[in-house]
Amino acid sequence: MQKKAFITGITGQDGAYLAKLLIDKGYAVTGGVRRNASQELYRLSYLGIKDKIDLVDFDLLDVNNIVRTIKENPVDEFYNLAAHSFVGSSWNTPTYVGDVNALGVSRILDSLRTYKSDTKFYQASTSEMFGKVQEVPQRETTRLYPRSPYGVSKVYAHYMTINYRESFNMHTSSGILFNHESPLRGVEFVTRKITSTLARIARGSKEVLQLGNLYSERDWGYAADYVNGMWLMLQQDTASDYVLASGRTVSIKYFTQLVLDTLGLQVEWVGTGIDEKAIDRSGTVIVEVNSKFYRPAEVDLLLGDASKAKLKLGWQPELSIEDLAKLMSIADYERAKHTS
Ligand code: NAP
Repeated sequence: MQKKAFITGITGQDGAYLAKLLIDKGYAVTGGVRRNASQELYRLSYLGIKDKIDLVDFDLLDVNNIVRTIKENPVDEFYNLAAHSFVGSSWNTPTYVGDVNALGVSRILDSLRTYKSDTKFYQASTSEMFGKVQEVPQRETTRLYPRSPYGVSKVYAHYMTINYRESFNMHTSSGILFNHESPLRGVEFVTRKITSTLARIARGSKEVLQLGNLYSERDWGYAADYVNGMWLMLQQDTASDYVLASGRTVSIKYFTQLVLDTLGLQVEWVGTGIDEKAIDRSGTVIVEVNSKFYRPAEVDLLLGDASKAKLKLGWQPELSIEDLAKLMSIADYERAKHTS
């Protein structure tokens, strides 16, 4: 019988890649869409799956909507990818972020418990829960110490996922995912900001790429690899928590340099700290530091240990950061053709 899956956050990066993966595996996919003016379905179009998904109204803030959605769309697997997902701006709307990311998950879990408790559930947890890291590398057992409203909200959701598993014997898994990027990453995230801005500059735009702390290190992987890990979690006999990570960190400056190299932009880095800049051969500043983009509380060295996922799920990331930077740069260079 054809398997059915529900994906919240289907308009986001991971929602699109996961939907593609499940459709390719023969699933019937229903996607929850938050009604707003823009109705961003471009990611689904980009992957050629827009017409293969049944889209329904879904909002994490509306309990009646969630109850009705779960009753009317019984599925085998429910992937909760919806969230206010931008760490930086979570400081501007902390209570809203808690309502969406934390209480929203309670609303789903309790509706599932009441109406369809045999549904397998996936919660999109995050390495931001480790924040001020208590050990390096971080694994499933590492003590959580979130450093942003986003991280705190995700900790609540993570523990609720565990509680419904332990209290009601539900198949609820939490994927603690380290950063994963793609050509479909939102432009507000630093990797896409770098690839999209530098691609426009390579096409002749006169802008300057402004970045925060160039020496922040992140463990970055490719979104298409990571959604496969989500699916694998729900194929196990018992639910659990898994870290998905590349196991390698690089700095924002290193990633920026990979993109500059791919786009053929030759620069010299000069200055230090807030005065550090990348200058091209004509003496034009291409990249500069702006303290506006520093976080109020920076996370420490986020470096994931995905050995449990490797052992139990047979999961490991396929694309290196170097290949990922190339993939994203080339995709943005193509897109910039239409804007330059
Ligand atoms: P994303 O591109 O920002 O997508 C977020 C999705 O959530 C969008 O579809 C958005 O809809 C939806 N959403 C926001 N508020 C909602 C609400 N109130 N009700 C229903 N839907 C709502 O994020 P992503 O990168 O795909 O990440 C997917 C999930 O993984 C998120 O939960 C994120 O926190 C988590 N995560 C991501 C990473 C990463 O590196 N990408 C790492 C760890 C964890 P709109 O289109 O209407 O805005």
